[in-house]
Amino acid sequence: MAETNLNDSNVKVAVRVRPMNRREKDLNTKCVVEMEGNQTVLHPASGNLGKGDTRSQPKVFAYDYCFWSMDESEKDKFAGQDVVFQCLGESLLHNAFQGYNACIFAYGQTGSGKSYTMMGSVDQPGLIPRLCSSLFERTLQHQREEESFTVEVSYMEIYNEKVRDLLDPKGSRQALRVREHKVLGPYVDGLSRLAVASYKDIESLMSEGNKSRTVAATNMNEESSRSHAVFIIILTHTLKDLQSGTSGEKVSKLSLVDLAGSERAAKTGAAGERLKEGSNINKSLTTLGLVISALADQGAGKNKSKFVPYRDSVLTWLLKDSLGGNSRTAMVATVSPAADNYDETLSTLRYADRAK
Ligand code: ADP
Repeated sequence: MAETNLNDSNVKVAVRVRPMNRREKDLNTKCVVEMEGNQTVLHPASGNLGKGDTRSQPKVFAYDYCFWSMDESEKDKFAGQDVVFQCLGESLLHNAFQGYNACIFAYGQTGSGKSYTMMGSVDQPGLIPRLCSSLFERTLQHQREEESFTVEVSYMEIYNEKVRDLLDPKGSRQALRVREHKVLGPYVDGLSRLAVASYKDIESLMSEGNKSRTVAATNMNEESSRSHAVFIIILTHTLKDLQSGTSGEKVSKLSLVDLAGSERAAKTGAAGERLKEGSNINKSLTTLGLVISALADQGAGKNKSKFVPYRDSVLTWLLKDSLGGNSRTAMVATVSPAADNYDETLSTLRYADRAK
């Protein structure tokens, strides 16, 4: 594991490499990813490339964090779920308690470890369960007569630029409209916002929501890998003046996003409707990249007045209040170590590089 703060901007970029899967091990697939300190190196996938082919040279990238999850036996290097949370989750949570919004995105090709990083498993919980349990621990620690907290959650899916509520109590699959409030900005009309009192509540709501994604996946050709899943936690912190009886509120929002698979439409041979859908997915991923990169430039003081194209996709438009300003953003780009994923891995590393 490597940790270097490349910048003090509100955007942190991490890359995480998953272990080889069974098939890759069985085929003795070559590992093309290497991490050293804050650098990730992508080695050539094949020895048969001509000198002029740019893929014949190792490619070196630097990020805020490089998480090596290949082999647990490499103790000094290995970044398990706890390390990823310490590096990315804890400071965002701290900021949420100060009243700031935050976003975490997982970007990468399908099967590279986005949901493992965001959700994880029962034995290896990822960022979302760790953030949630830590959040409730903190609210309990701070709860006093003059200080109280409420936690609410929403869970939605953005598919083909349309928004669907994953926590709709009626189970409706209707697309919801995105509207704009004069003061509060963009919002999803009719999206459920459910109060939760413990991590257990969140857990059961999430598993309901995920079931609703899975149903869609079997009916509609694995829709889930082509949709963005956005889990939102709203923390309201109320401070009361016991003498005067007045009170004030601070509201912060944590948006945790498992993005659609970044693999390109071209590779899957998309045509017609599927191609349109592919270009919509790419549109939101491209726009997100442009937004994060513009914000990173602003944060680093490079270009303070740079235009941020929030409006160009539903995802970035809805997350406008959680991207930029005093908000914190973390992106985890997940990659496969295997030679046969070289092209996708390179494109993910480049995307993450542009977001810095
Ligand atoms: P994605 O959400 O990008 O499609 P997944 O998170 O489902 O990918 O990961 C694919 C497989 O790889 C899963 O079986 C997952 O458990 C495993 N995996 C991914 N990342 C890691 C990791 N860092 N450590 C261990 N296993 C991982």
